Amino acid sequence: MLARVKAEARDLPGVYEMRSADGEIIYVGKSKKLRTRLLSYFRAQYPADKGARILREAAEIQWEYVPSEFASLLEELTRIKRYRPRHNVAGKRDARHFAFIRVARGAAESFRVVRGAGQDEGGVFFGPFRGAIQLTEALRELNDALGLRDCALDMPMHFADQPELFHAPRTPGCIRHEIGKCLGPCVAAVRRDEYAERFALARRFLEGASDAPLEGLRAAMEEASEQLAYERAASLRDKITRLESLRAQFARLRFAVESLSFVYTPAAAHGDAVSYVIRRGRVRARLALPSTTAARRALDGAVAAVAQVPERLDGTVPSHEIDELLLVTSWFTRFPKEFERTAPLPHAGLPSEA
Ligand code: SF4
Repeated sequence: MLARVKAEARDLPGVYEMRSADGEIIYVGKSKKLRTRLLSYFRAQYPADKGARILREAAEIQWEYVPSEFASLLEELTRIKRYRPRHNVAGKRDARHFAFIRVARGAAESFRVVRGAGQDEGGVFFGPFRGAIQLTEALRELNDALGLRDCALDMPMHFADQPELFHAPRTPGCIRHEIGKCLGPCVAAVRRDEYAERFALARRFLEGASDAPLEGLRAAMEEASEQLAYERAASLRDKITRLESLRAQFARLRFAVESLSFVYTPAAAHGDAVSYVIRRGRVRARLALPSTTAARRALDGAVAAVAQVPERLDGTVPSHEIDELLLVTSWFTRFPKEFERTAPLPHAGLPSEA
């Protein structure tokens, strides 16, 4: 393998696959300098080094050049998702700086702060946000303000409208219900539909699309005042104040995915340049950048068509798009000068060729 790398590999952007003797792809990697990267495997100093471990199991290395480092990142991600090589940990590198809020399903839904989608196929996520610690604190506030659970997912739930057969315990395993910070779905203190309604309120709050959660609480506060239920009205007023400041906090933490919508044409170090149609941080199309004016006009039409496909605007991200979203946000965070190689969607044309 070393002799072949020395003889044939070039220092260009590309992706590589390490295969075992029986043809299994055990590792997929990328580099903007493929030859340098591949040679580094053969210089691993200690047997426990990751490179040395992979090489011990590898019988063959295959590689392919791509136009740019950005292309190599995308291609690496695609292949990791397709082959799930056992030595890869998908998305780990890009997940470092960003966190998401995951909707955890179950008898009583809840929110969790996570770094990436992991194995959660078909999950619903909000984000990305910067700063997992601050996000965790803000989410705790949101849970407290709306009375949502934040306990272990395997905690048994007992709703007030469940048959007695379930024999709900009288006291929860935590004091959040006692101090008014959780509706208590574990101790039959709330009906299933009441809890679901409160959770939907929190989701709408995170979607940021409307004032409905706040309006609902304001209406409840007015009603409580009219009924002279001043203690309840004061508690609702506190919730409203906390939610208003939480909204600002979530807005500060949220990475501006909306700004990641454009046509991006990275400089090509190898072969023809490729333009990427990126919408809300996700690559919606890859189009080879043609050299003639007529062909470029046709390409403008193709870009406009991709740009007009409706996107979900509720602030949620499906799990299968999380890794790509992390990749794109990380790329433009690390290399802000690359924004100079972007053109607005949909009609402004494409950036000039590299
Ligand atoms: S009160 Fe019950 S449901 Fe709420 S957080 Fe505590 S254990 Fe979970």
